[in-house]
Amino acid sequence: MRDASRSAAAAGLRPWRTHTVRVREILAEVEGVATYDLAFRDESAGAAYRFAPGQFNMLYLPGAGECAISISEDRATSAGYRHTVRVAGNVTKTLTGLRPGDTLGLRGPFGTSWPITDCIGRDVVLVAGGIGLAPLRPAIGSLMRNARQFGRRHLLYGARSPESLLYWRQYEEWSQAGIRVHTTVDRADSRWTGHVGVATLLLERLDAIDARNAVLMCCGPEVMMRFTIAAALNRGFAPDRIWVSLERNMQCGVGLCGHCQMGGEFVCRDGPVFRYDRVAPFLDVEAF
Ligand SMILES: Cc1cc2nc3c(=O)[nH]c(=O)nc-3n(C[C@H](O)[C@H](O)[C@H](O)COP(=O)(O)OP(=O)(O)OC[C@H]3O[C@@H](n4cnc5c(N)ncnc54)[C@H](O)[C@@H]3O)c2cc1C
Repeated sequence: MRDASRSAAAAGLRPWRTHTVRVREILAEVEGVATYDLAFRDESAGAAYRFAPGQFNMLYLPGAGECAISISEDRATSAGYRHTVRVAGNVTKTLTGLRPGDTLGLRGPFGTSWPITDCIGRDVVLVAGGIGLAPLRPAIGSLMRNARQFGRRHLLYGARSPESLLYWRQYEEWSQAGIRVHTTVDRADSRWTGHVGVATLLLERLDAIDARNAVLMCCGPEVMMRFTIAAALNRGFAPDRIWVSLERNMQCGVGLCGHCQMGGEFVCRDGPVFRYDRVAPFLDVEAF
């Protein structure tokens, strides 16, 4: 049984309705990445808007287009809705020209969510690569707030270099809340005293974990997720307790246009968060 929120369409919301949102604040994160804190212009629409960790919105910039962006922080820690964006193409580049007070369009929320209720009573391992930490950050918030419900909680995070570690200012706060934060970088500099190598190595070395009873959630480049899944299976994680968030070229967000279709699954409607055993044929993981 999947622990996934229903899509906006299935929940009877109006998936084509574009809300006008205002940029409240723009936080520079790492090179080429910024977090946009957005507030609904219509306060009643903002108050009614609900989402679950792992879901995404379609952000619309007139003249540039629309693209899928995960919600990267929840309302418990921010009065707005945060989206962490890496410049990729037309829409994300145009976003960088916005300033606080400017407006844009937002449709959503869409997609499935991280299986937080499955984590109750179990150890939890979050594995993120690069900007893949953004969709996991609301899950970190949930795991922090209800700490006693969960077992040991680990975040394994890999970035290209020390300067590209996302949300580094929050690691201390997460650690204080009992989430053990393990970081690694592909390329170290002279000041870096931590791990060097891919996040998969952190998973192989992790000892304080009951793998057979643990939940693993993973988001990052697809090659990194494939290696992570192989390492997790090798360590004894159950295939039905491994969850991944997949990215595919997405247009409508509600399972109609077919751009993000993988076999019988639509990433926008049936994902982006999938239980690994449902999408295993598309990920083609090779065991070590
Ligand atoms: C569910 C979901 C959640 C996402 N969350 C975030 C997020 O939180 N932050 C963020 O920065 N980005 C996120 N993305 C990725 C973002 O939607 C794409 O980068 C998007 O295409 C950017 O739009 P654009 O017009 O700027 O670039 P485009 O002009 O659409 O694309 C630029 C280049 O990237 C390629 N591309 C487009 N989409 C993808 C993709 N999904 N995977 C790999 N390559 C792609 C294109 O082929 C093109 O070469 C998410 C995508 C999905 C499906």
